[in-house]
Amino acid sequence: MIIVMEENATEEQIARVIEKLMHLGFDVHRSTGITRTVLGAVGQKIVDARELELLPGVAEVLRVTTPYKLVSRSFRQEDLEIRLGDVVIGGREIVLMAGPCAVESREQVLEIADAVKRAGAKILRGGAFKPRTSPYSFQGLGEEGLRYLREAADRYGLLVVSEVMEIAQIPLMSEYVDVLQVGARNMQHFNLLKELGRQPKPVLLKRGPAATIEETLLAAEYIVSGGNPNVMLCERGIRTFETSLRYTLDISAIPVFKKLTYLPVIADPSHGTGRRDKVPPMARAAVAAGADGLLIEVHHRPEEALCDGPQALLPEQLYELVGQLRQIAAAVGRTL
Ligand code: PEP
Ligand code: MN
Repeated sequence: MIIVMEENATEEQIARVIEKLMHLGFDVHRSTGITRTVLGAVGQKIVDARELELLPGVAEVLRVTTPYKLVSRSFRQEDLEIRLGDVVIGGREIVLMAGPCAVESREQVLEIADAVKRAGAKILRGGAFKPRTSPYSFQGLGEEGLRYLREAADRYGLLVVSEVMEIAQIPLMSEYVDVLQVGARNMQHFNLLKELGRQPKPVLLKRGPAATIEETLLAAEYIVSGGNPNVMLCERGIRTFETSLRYTLDISAIPVFKKLTYLPVIADPSHGTGRRDKVPPMARAAVAAGADGLLIEVHHRPEEALCDGPQALLPEQLYELVGQLRQIAAAVGRTL
């Protein structure tokens, strides 16, 4: 941390700040300029900058280290590759994860699994437990849905990602899924994150609609510090002042995450836009921006979907999109 003192700060005020820093366990390096004194505080302690900002004579407190440690690029330089059988997330190949928003029936998920496999998907997505804004909306089929997902994925040689909403669901879900998804609304469900740190399945952690990049990395830090290194982040759109689309898909978060962390970054243009016609352009942008994977909602009869029909691609649209994505991937040194 760097503490910049005010121009007219007194020796007493400077001494008080130094004393406070040493009390907090920092080594302090003082540099006295012509107009100002600057204090460099070196140490591992995480302190609330406000504690120093409020001391008399302090002009500014600048953090030079990040509050997250284990998920930081400075902790590990190489990209993390999460291996699930022959599927590698975070490697050269961009991994397509696709499927319905919610599992609605056995026939539905079998049909869509067949379609996404043909498109080149490696992972079948689908919610069995759905976090819905309204308690009157379809809440998911629960364990029955998980069974259908697993059956469909096994039949077509796919892996499964599905959302876990609470700690009590982890053992049941672990019997059926390969990747546990933490939904945007649960990104700061800290007890759930801690528990996911104590189990072995990879976690797809969605960025909360109102979460900063740093808060998202701290959420990932909860899982990794609990003992589970296999976390992938997912940009799925944030709330901004813009109302044209459901959310604002923060494409720029992709290169920012890639610089700050070694964790794989997935983009979800379906929730990020909320409209089928906007999914392909944003999927293309995400691949160009460096995403390691895409999470895309697909439905063969979207007008009958129980959840998020308007943002689901039809299978033919997914095939066409994948053709375009392959060209973009090649242009940025990736495959798909
Ligand atoms: C989902 O992927 O099914 C979902 C509910 O997404 P989010 O948590 O991003 O809203
Ligand atoms: Mn959805």
